[in-house]
Amino acid sequence: MTADLIDGKAFAAGLRGRIAEQVAAMRQAHGITPGLAVVLVGEDPASAVYVRSKGRMTAEVGMQGFTHRLPNTTAQHDLLDLVARLNADAAVNGILVQLPLPAHLDEIAVINAIAPEKDVDGFTVLNAGRLATGQRAMVPCTPLGCLMLLRDRLGALAGRDALVIGRSNIVGKPMAQLLLSESATVTVAHSRTRDLPGLCRRAEIVVAAVGRPSFVQGSWIRPGATVIDVGINRTDEGLVGDVDFAAAREVAGAITPVPGGVGPMTIACLLANTLTATARVHGLPDPEGLTP
Ligand code: NAD
Repeated sequence: MTADLIDGKAFAAGLRGRIAEQVAAMRQAHGITPGLAVVLVGEDPASAVYVRSKGRMTAEVGMQGFTHRLPNTTAQHDLLDLVARLNADAAVNGILVQLPLPAHLDEIAVINAIAPEKDVDGFTVLNAGRLATGQRAMVPCTPLGCLMLLRDRLGALAGRDALVIGRSNIVGKPMAQLLLSESATVTVAHSRTRDLPGLCRRAEIVVAAVGRPSFVQGSWIRPGATVIDVGINRTDEGLVGDVDFAAAREVAGAITPVPGGVGPMTIACLLANTLTATARVHGLPDPEGLTP
């Protein structure tokens, strides 16, 4: 059996199209244009690429983009001052501080300085807590994108056996929370897990967010499973996911490719969250189909 490809690139393009329509409708009905501020500190090349494509796609869906590039030597208080200005700026509905920050900066303090209603990455402690307790939150973009792909493929997820590999605050943990809120039966595996292959063989859904090229073996995959590969690993052979794609594809029912799977969904969900944040701050209903 050869798995179906889950085309995240096409899904994300459709999602951006729907966002653009809703942005236009919001402008026409209420005279509001959502604004997204992106803050990049330092010269990390991968981060610079992400920030450029975020800027381009923000404009493409008709939102206002504000990019702030700060030098590597930026002091903590200067970065906090900028966040405070963005918090107070009514034209800014979403704030994203590109991670990782240079080592001398306190990432947790900077993230938690973002006003929760503008926290379109969903990384503040308040939004993480809201997600964990089933309250209305801003949901981290990558897991939100994974959830959209899973729902599109499988419909209702209630009762399904799901394995999340990785327990980071930006992918693994919020992914597990989202799957739990869909009533899936969720297992979270991590670096100290025993018998990962055995856990994998039971899972109808595998979400791999490990950061190790081709780590999840084809022989671990349950026949027919849906495999979401979050990994982005730069290798001599180019970009590679966390799943041994060629082998897993022979066993799985459906699988996301890398590139072209989860990656494009992350930016589309950032735009979705910006639109949601804009609607909420103006007391409008949540936009259609963009929240969990
Ligand atoms: P991380 O390094 O913060 O977390 C990795 C997790 O993998 C840890 O929780 C760790 O316990 C687990 N792990 C490590 N070794 C393991 C092992 N042998 N068995 C089981 N679990 C193990 O990484 P992250 O930020 O969650 O990112 C994971 C991957 O996803 C990376 O490749 C990253 O580049 C990618 N990523 C992609 C997107 C996207 O938009 N597609 C977004 C964020 C991250």
